[in-house]
Amino acid sequence: MRAMTLTQRANAKVDLVELQLPEPGATQVRVRVAACGVCRTDLHVVDGDLPAPSIPIIPGHEIVGRVDACGSAVTGLVPGQRVGIPWLGWSCEECGFCRDGRENLCPSARYTGYQLHGGYAEYAVADARFCFPLPGGYDDVHAAPLLCAGLIGYRAYRKAGSGRRLGIYGFGAAAHIITQVAVHQGREVYAFVSPGDEQAMRFAREVGAAWAGSSTEPPPHPLDAAIIFAPVGALVPEALSRAVPGGVVVCAGIHMSDIPSFPYRLLWEERTLHSVANLTRADAAEFLTVAAGLAIRTHVTVYPLADANQALDDLRAGRLSGAAVLVP
Ligand SMILES: [Zn+2]
Ligand SMILES: [Zn+2]
Repeated sequence: MRAMTLTQRANAKVDLVELQLPEPGATQVRVRVAACGVCRTDLHVVDGDLPAPSIPIIPGHEIVGRVDACGSAVTGLVPGQRVGIPWLGWSCEECGFCRDGRENLCPSARYTGYQLHGGYAEYAVADARFCFPLPGGYDDVHAAPLLCAGLIGYRAYRKAGSGRRLGIYGFGAAAHIITQVAVHQGREVYAFVSPGDEQAMRFAREVGAAWAGSSTEPPPHPLDAAIIFAPVGALVPEALSRAVPGGVVVCAGIHMSDIPSFPYRLLWEERTLHSVANLTRADAAEFLTVAAGLAIRTHVTVYPLADANQALDDLRAGRLSGAAVLVP
């Protein structure tokens, strides 16, 4: 099979390689990949921002495909069935975090496209217990961004609490999905983008933001909560400064530049600062149920698999509205 593979650490690009068709282990399925989303985390993997990826590794953890072969111990999935494969690829199910419903923090967890081969390929194998049937109503390329931008975005959204005025910093794939969920649930979304990025402001308004402006600008109202999707640490004190007393700021990315020091008064009055790490299978089930009932419009730019580096470059340079999706 063809795969776009990171062959050296911090190589900043992936290379086209021919590999043997992978055989599923007892608890695994092999999936013929129909589409795979390109997430900012993939950039952090190929650019070397994250420690110790397995090398070589096939990136990609927003995989949509059809089951092509099942291991001997697989129950619940059958050949031909459409499934999604997300970032959490395996957890131990035995440690305190796993037993406590927090498998996202499992110290032995393995992640798709980071320690386990992902979806920048014609086929992928995955543990069947970590694959999810996908709602109808989304074709393959439009379903792909639900699997990380949607899923981990939704975990961040839940951490932000139930306040009415929600700020979102960085308006890419996750933001455009979560904005639609938030607006549907009666919230007002305030979108903050890089100063001067008119295209991102227009995109935010199109998908339902009540207001869109520059990340250095004050919003028209103080925020009950804010989610930071941009990997920019300087946005943390910025968002805290816009939050009401008791407000919540959630950092949703896996990697961020250093957070500058800031005066304690920005955190004072019981403001809360959270990070979000990974996802649980319960998050996936809950978000996919929300997505099934809501007809979220995902905006995608489709690239052939062999153009994965172009997709990564476009994401790195901020040239995308919505999500990049690779199709083998
Ligand atoms: Zn565990
Ligand atoms: Zn991701």
